[in-house]
Amino acid sequence: MKNTYCCPKCNNSEIAIIESGAFKGNLYNTVSFGLSTIYLTKYICTDCGYSENYVDDVKDLKKIKDKYIKPGQGSDFV
Ligand SMILES: [Zn+2]
Repeated sequence: MKNTYCCPKCNNSEIAIIESGAFKGNLYNTVSFGLSTIYLTKYICTDCGYSENYVDDVKDLKKIKDKYIKPGQGSDFV
């Protein structure tokens, strides 16, 4: 959905992209842990209402990885 701009449920191509952040008007679409607040970008199908959230900042993904992925987790699949 993020990359295709097409709804996976109904194939509508009119996807609303709502960025979050203190100056972007959507302050509360976040994941928080400790002192970190990570803003999510929401993609909403304007036809059926299906929505997805993405962490768009690579630095934030690194923080989540450091916090939530245990050493060795996922290594079975490499
Ligand atoms: Zn849809």
